[in-house]
Amino acid sequence: MRQAATTEELRREIATLPRPLVLVPTMGALHEGHLALMRRAREAAGPHGTVAVSIFVNPIQFDRPGDLAAYPQPLADDLAKCDAEGVDLVFTPAAGGMYFPDRSITVTESLLSRHLCGATRPGHFDGVCTVVLKLFNLFQPDAAVFGEKDVQQLAILRRMVRDLDVPVEIIGYPTVREPDGLAMSSRNVRLTPEHRADAPRIRRALEGARSLLQFGERSAAPFLAAARKHLEDSPFLRIDYLELVDAETLQPIAQIKRPSVLATAVFYDDVRLIDHMTLLP
Ligand code: AMP
Repeated sequence: MRQAATTEELRREIATLPRPLVLVPTMGALHEGHLALMRRAREAAGPHGTVAVSIFVNPIQFDRPGDLAAYPQPLADDLAKCDAEGVDLVFTPAAGGMYFPDRSITVTESLLSRHLCGATRPGHFDGVCTVVLKLFNLFQPDAAVFGEKDVQQLAILRRMVRDLDVPVEIIGYPTVREPDGLAMSSRNVRLTPEHRADAPRIRRALEGARSLLQFGERSAAPFLAAARKHLEDSPFLRIDYLELVDAETLQPIAQIKRPSVLATAVFYDDVRLIDHMTLLP
């Protein structure tokens, strides 16, 4: 496995590696969800192509300094996992290695980021779009794999490559879950045992709401009420948002007439977890 720690090293490596090149951008603290993305990248790259992974805890996408400071960074473990997955190249830039101190250009998405995480994490998607566009410029990948778990991120990145003519194919991959249904996340290790035991209710709350579809319900309010009730039954969590939006525009809806997304973010103390469920009319 090749490794690059600076953008100069990365450009040198990229020039020598076979195409197609498929990139999996991550912030490290790798779990099974990330490894599944790497396997999907191998499928897309083929046995003779290149699978590349970036591990970078991108400071400009964090809206809470405490979340950034507490973000787990087990780099040696992460490198071993990439190696075991047959990754060809890992890029591990230093915290300050990606941005000029006087940088003044940012990529801003102004429609899909209005609700959900975009509303409660100011600047988050500007940070995501900016770093992903930089990674695309550095790696010049043929394709890149992203998790559907971050449903709003995936929609925004698809919009970015469309609107800015970025020649990279975006591949989405379904959410990988723990056996009890909790979506895998690098932040799960920060939950207390009590909170970890409570957290599968996030998924159950969304599933419970979805079951209203079977009874012919199509108004948004009962779906939101059912999910909210289940979440609020927890003595531990605090809801950051719970919204029902159109799957394509990510704008709130009053009636489910087209594919829709019921999405939530919750806090267990300062640990923020997200999940969502697609609802089909
Ligand atoms: P992160 O390191 O959290 O920024 O995530 C890096 C990539 O892994 C993103 O494309 C995420 O959507 C994806 N990812 C994170 N968790 C999961 C999961 N449980 N299942 C599938 N993909 C995931």
